[in-house]
Amino acid sequence: MALKRMGIVSDYEKIRTFAVAIVGVGGVGSVTAEMLTRCGIGKLLLFDYDKVELANMNRLFFQPHQAGLSKVQAAEHTLRNINPDVLFEVHNYNITTVENFERFMNRISNGGLEEGKPVDLVLSCVDNFEARMTINTACNELGQTWMESGVSENAVSGHIQLIIPGESACFACAPPLVVAANIDEKTLKREGVCAASLPTTMGVVAGILVQNVLKFLLNFGTVSFYLGYNAMQDFFPTMSMKPNPQCDDRNCRKQQEEYKKKVAALPTQEVVQEEEEIIHDDNEWGIELVSEVSEEELKNSSGPIPDLPEGITVAYTVPQKQEDSVPEVTVEDSGESLEDLMAKMKNM
Ligand SMILES: [Zn+2]
Repeated sequence: MALKRMGIVSDYEKIRTFAVAIVGVGGVGSVTAEMLTRCGIGKLLLFDYDKVELANMNRLFFQPHQAGLSKVQAAEHTLRNINPDVLFEVHNYNITTVENFERFMNRISNGGLEEGKPVDLVLSCVDNFEARMTINTACNELGQTWMESGVSENAVSGHIQLIIPGESACFACAPPLVVAANIDEKTLKREGVCAASLPTTMGVVAGILVQNVLKFLLNFGTVSFYLGYNAMQDFFPTMSMKPNPQCDDRNCRKQQEEYKKKVAALPTQEVVQEEEEIIHDDNEWGIELVSEVSEEELKNSSGPIPDLPEGITVAYTVPQKQEDSVPEVTVEDSGESLEDLMAKMKNM
């Protein structure tokens, strides 16, 4: 394996020992599944209740002759042909119903490469707020690490986010972070007009998602806690966010307590913080909306926008009357100067 020979990854073969669950096998999820299949992942669990539609042929992966088939069934067929060594487990149901939520939780906890063990990672490739919140609830309860992904309704921005319950902000800790796209939303959004979708943006987001998955699982490079993609300016803002001690999700608060105990029990050593370096100086980013925010919610929101790196904003703000509960968004900074970093690089 070239990556190993070139010293990037010490043990690439380890990829075969991991099980990854993908929720949502649409424009981003299907491409993510194909990439992981080609990388030789041990096991893939696919969750989706939708069918392949001819109207979505502007996206990657699915083919016209598969129209009408369930997405998970069609995906399994294609992926098995690409790499028969991967184990597949497909679930054709909506995880947000009470009964299916239990089934979903059960498979996350027991569907690892070895039955009875949890999966190594859950990837959210869904397109709505409710499903993201459902995955968040399950992962907080199970202490399951997962990655969120999203493409904006106007198709020109997207993001990925790594959520380690208790350690980094969960999906309920703060309003969702989105990439500011610097375009007039009114020119794109019209009543009854279908959301745009571009195979390019979805492909880029799937690419940065799987790249982060590989770095996380195989332990190389810097794993991003949040990585945005602004297609209009070709800008990739990054940041990391601490969990909110007042998070609405009680399991998130419980995980935070457990994480604190775990850190306190560790031998004292300097914690290496995520690097974040924002190069752009121009302050011309407009506020970008994501599809799960209704006009109504936007009208109601008049709260302050937390201090975030340039190019990232929140999907909505919390109205002033609830100011007490406005989550404090903490952007971690390594505090290192450019000189320090240069010196470090020289020593590498
Ligand atoms: Zn939380």
